[in-house]
Amino acid sequence: MLRNLPIDMKKIILLCLLFPLSLFAEDKKEEAEKSEKIEKIEKSAAEWKEILSKDEYYILREKGTERAFSGKYWKHKASGVYHCSACKLPLFSSTTKFKSGTGWPSFWIPIQKRYVAELSDTKFGWNRTEVLCARCDGHLGHVFNDGPRPTGLRYCINSASLTFVPLLEAADKKADKKEVSID
Ligand SMILES: [Zn+2]
Repeated sequence: MLRNLPIDMKKIILLCLLFPLSLFAEDKKEEAEKSEKIEKIEKSAAEWKEILSKDEYYILREKGTERAFSGKYWKHKASGVYHCSACKLPLFSSTTKFKSGTGWPSFWIPIQKRYVAELSDTKFGWNRTEVLCARCDGHLGHVFNDGPRPTGLRYCINSASLTFVPLLEAADKKADKKEVSID
C-alpha cells in the first residue's frame, strides 16, 4: 500500500503510527513508577533506639515536636535532598523549601507524593493532617493548606525527622557507585 508513496511521505506515516505508541510507553512507565510498591521497614522500639538519637526517637517514633526555631534546618538554605532520618527515604528537595516564618523547615511538595503518608490528627482538639514517612511510618510533621503556589500546601516538618544530603555529595556518591560498578 505504501509502495507508491514518496519516501518522505512514508516517513511521516511511520512517525504518525509510532508517536502514539511512544506516548503509550511513557504512560506505562509513569504507571509502573506510581504503583511501584514501597517496601515497609518495621523495627522494634529497641531497634529504633539503637539507630536514632534521643530527639529523633521522640519525634519520629513518639510523634513529638521540636521547639520552633530550635531545629537544624528551619533556616537551612543549601541545595540538596532531605531524607528520612530513620530509613533514609528521600522525602523533600531544597528546591521546594520556602521561608514560612514558623521556625520549622517548610516545603510545598514532597519529592514523590507516595513517599509521604497522611493521617488525620485530632490531638489537642485541632483537626490537623499528620505526615509520616511512607516507608518506616516515622512521624515527620503536619501539612496545612496555607502554603505558597503552585500547590498551596505547607509541609511543616521537624528538622530531627530529616537528614540533609548536599547536592554535590549526592553527585559524588553516584560517581563512586559508577566507578565501583565498572571495576
Ligand atoms: Zn522513613
